[in-house]
Amino acid sequence: MLERSNELNAWDRDHFFHPSTHMGSHARGETPTRVIGSGEGVYITDTGGRTSLDAFAGLYCVNVGYGRQKIADAIAEQAKNLAYYHAYVGHGTEASITLSKMIIDRAPEGMSRVYFGLSGSDANETNIKLIWYYNNILGRPDKKKIISRWRGYHGSGVMTGSLTGLELFHKAFDLPRAPILHTEAPYYFRRPDRSMDEEQFSQHCADKLEEMILAEGPETVAAFIGEPILGTGGIVPPPKGYWQKIQAVLQKYDILLIADEVVTGFGRLGTTFGSDYYGMKPDLITIAKGLTSAYAPLSGTIVSDKVWQLLVQGSDQMGAIGHGWTYSAHPICAAAGIANLELIDELDLVKNAGDTGAYFRSELTKAVGGHKNVGEVRGDGMMAAVEFVADRDDRKFFDASQKIGPQVSAALLERGVIGRAMPQGDILGFAPPLCLTRGEADIVVKAAAEAIDSVFKSI
Ligand code: PMP
Repeated sequence: MLERSNELNAWDRDHFFHPSTHMGSHARGETPTRVIGSGEGVYITDTGGRTSLDAFAGLYCVNVGYGRQKIADAIAEQAKNLAYYHAYVGHGTEASITLSKMIIDRAPEGMSRVYFGLSGSDANETNIKLIWYYNNILGRPDKKKIISRWRGYHGSGVMTGSLTGLELFHKAFDLPRAPILHTEAPYYFRRPDRSMDEEQFSQHCADKLEEMILAEGPETVAAFIGEPILGTGGIVPPPKGYWQKIQAVLQKYDILLIADEVVTGFGRLGTTFGSDYYGMKPDLITIAKGLTSAYAPLSGTIVSDKVWQLLVQGSDQMGAIGHGWTYSAHPICAAAGIANLELIDELDLVKNAGDTGAYFRSELTKAVGGHKNVGEVRGDGMMAAVEFVADRDDRKFFDASQKIGPQVSAALLERGVIGRAMPQGDILGFAPPLCLTRGEADIVVKAAAEAIDSVFKSI
């Protein structure tokens, strides 16, 4: 076993180009390789035999938990019966058609069609192209800019990396590219003026958006994209009234709203969609992770009836849509999606995300909220974050070189629990599988409290 493990480590360092990894330190062996061998429920086990409670559900995607026989069987059955056929020029499979119906049945009101992709990034690429197509049909060739938010995360492609509002994803790649703009993040804890209450700060964000639209010219702004709750940017719920005020501005200037529900879709907040949770009325919705619980890669763009009707009308001018992926609506992934959505219903996981999520956040707040270096414990549904500060009164940041977030997540891992050091700021994030039990939540909270104590005692 040890021999095999050493061999894999060597191959990994010599041949595997890891995403989101420091290339030099990994190749030099300064950061560990962890080879994951199996998973069951909320636990994963590495090939060295070490088990961890995965309180981030992979990358907030393994929503039903690991080792679900029902999904494995559905994938195997589909692979035997029909491993692949494409979806071009009107082709479909029983699995892809059935899944599209299941998605629309669960989607917020007014949604009509699903365009399938493989990743959240490609689904957002589809959104951008559909929005441009939409305005071309309407004879508005200049209405093409898309406004995103600082701290938003929407993917890693050239355009979707531009939509993303995090420095790490921009600085080495000459991003963002036009015509993408970024407006203020609804980050209440770090609002510019602490005398503002939540409604006032929401109004401030809506005013900033309106200023940007007016400065650019409303006739040039096509869409606004946002995650219902900021995810990778620090797990930041919107302040009260935020989406209502933002939507009022968008309506005023005939700007479409894309809800990026890659993380929140299919139950993470305790409602099937985050749009339902915060009262958003999007024109397009991005879905991915929770659609298959990552048992197979599948994403989608859900198109509202309003946008769909116009696309149909436009196709008589434009011809067949020149946009397609080989693996769009892949039947094996669709079969995984069907089994996953059925499992979510059978196990009542949306409700559990709301109930156990609320319990988890409340216990976490009780355990660590009073710590001198914890500025805030926040979240909604089955998403939580702890933000660390050097000083609680003035909310001073630690020096970035201290790498507080990674230190705490490493201390947590030593105690058998996986949380994520979010990429910008000293923030420890949690997004456990939606099947988390109260007993498992207690294990996470206890480990988090001990990890936080141990790190700050040594500073
Ligand atoms: N949108 C959101 C909100 C995401 O969190 C992510 C991934 N974390 C993406 C899009 C991109 O998805 P993918 O990594 O599958 O391309």
